[in-house]
Amino acid sequence: MPELPEVETIVRTCRPRLVGRRIVAFHSRWRKNVAPTLPAARRAIVGRRITALTRRAKFIVFRLDDGGCLLVHLRMSGRLEWAKNGLPEPRHVRATWDLDDGQRLLFCDARKFGRILYTRDLAAATADLGPEPLERGFTPAKLGHLLQQRRRQLKPLLLDQSVIAGLGNIYTDEALFLAGLHPTIRSDALNETNIRRLHQAIRDVLRLAIRQHGTSLDWIYPGGWMQERLLVYGRAGEPCRRCGTPIVALRIAQRGTHICPRCQNGVAQRG
Ligand SMILES: [Zn+2]
Repeated sequence: MPELPEVETIVRTCRPRLVGRRIVAFHSRWRKNVAPTLPAARRAIVGRRITALTRRAKFIVFRLDDGGCLLVHLRMSGRLEWAKNGLPEPRHVRATWDLDDGQRLLFCDARKFGRILYTRDLAAATADLGPEPLERGFTPAKLGHLLQQRRRQLKPLLLDQSVIAGLGNIYTDEALFLAGLHPTIRSDALNETNIRRLHQAIRDVLRLAIRQHGTSLDWIYPGGWMQERLLVYGRAGEPCRRCGTPIVALRIAQRGTHICPRCQNGVAQRG
């Protein structure tokens, strides 16, 4: 599933071709993925100009010239593609946007979990999302507060979009490794040093992954190079890049999890 760095890469790549363009038609072949309804979304966006393309958590946000917003969530297998003249349409096209310069943007989604949502109130539509980890306001003190409040295991807590926005399975595993923390440690057991390390680790891994254009693991998201730089995710049985101990795959809160049993030694460290 695309996480913050992959969605950020898609936004940066699509932005020059979308901003300033007017939407002249919108169609969906799978009505159930459009909210509030397909006709309402079409009425709201057709004729509008796209003034900005941004990201909130794992949502791609089209900002429109009347103040409305169209949100696209790729979920498990969604992707945006451009129709290419003279070439057959790719498989699994669920929605299309025609633009005033003749371009056609496609939303392809093999597994149909993706969502397209129109809203006039972006803040209300995203009110249940936690803070953006790369924004200035996300300080070690803020992270510490979120961790102390929750009293949950670190892995499921970091995956919870209402706590921190944008992290998924890959970057949670990578951040916990960088911070030297076992994923089952309870969030309220961390001391200040642990919290500072985890804060730095989350930011470092997301910034590196954005520079690498995200992680390409299968056909759903091509074009990134972060897979070459991953330290634990998907490396079960391979030697830890720091200490040589084989990386172990665990199952924590129903999610495949990768750790170095030596570098992430299971207890919050003092000091
Ligand atoms: Zn190690």
